[in-house]
Amino acid sequence: MRFFLATANPDKAREMVDILSGAGVHVSARPPDIPDVEETGTTLEANAELKARAIADATGAGAIADDTGLEVDALDGAPGVFTARFAGPNATYAQNCEKLVAELAQTPPDQRGARFVTAICVVWPDGSAQTFRGEVEGVITDGPRGSNGFGYDPVFAPLELDGRTFAQMTSEEKHAVSHRARALRAAAAHLASRS
Ligand code: IMP
Repeated sequence: MRFFLATANPDKAREMVDILSGAGVHVSARPPDIPDVEETGTTLEANAELKARAIADATGAGAIADDTGLEVDALDGAPGVFTARFAGPNATYAQNCEKLVAELAQTPPDQRGARFVTAICVVWPDGSAQTFRGEVEGVITDGPRGSNGFGYDPVFAPLELDGRTFAQMTSEEKHAVSHRARALRAAAAHLASRS
């Protein structure tokens, strides 16, 4: 059975292909001619389902979409569903990281907790859908460190590892604990059990 990825972001697509193929699930890249869907949902799950349904409806095949948010304790859970647009509608990764570091400039080390949350939605060709959630707890660093990964990776250090940020790790190290990998592994187990 064929599943298309809904993401047009090459950084996320690379991670998703890596993790899903490691779990024995082979996916195709998003077809280029399908317009973007507006992320109008108020939850990560709702936005992931909107994106997956748009691709499944357009292709007649199955689709897998993700939506990720960063919840920062000192900002009462923001930016959450607005994570991509934290520093403005067309914000770059660097601008988003810079704004986050600036907003937490006066926040002491013991109050810098945050978590990445990913919702993955799998839509089957018959229209049925399931969502899976993955989370990783960490802290926001006082400045960017490392050059691997993407997005907020340079300012997020997962608690389960040794204090390095995701951007200071290999992709294997990141995938061992990351929000997206956890949600994808749950989705892959479901796909394997239903195929
Ligand atoms: P979305 O799921 O594409 O809407 O992602 C929301 C925002 O979170 C974007 O700014 C991404 O760059 C960022 N983001 C998503 N996944 C990760 C990750 O694994 N590490 C760092 N930033 C991420």
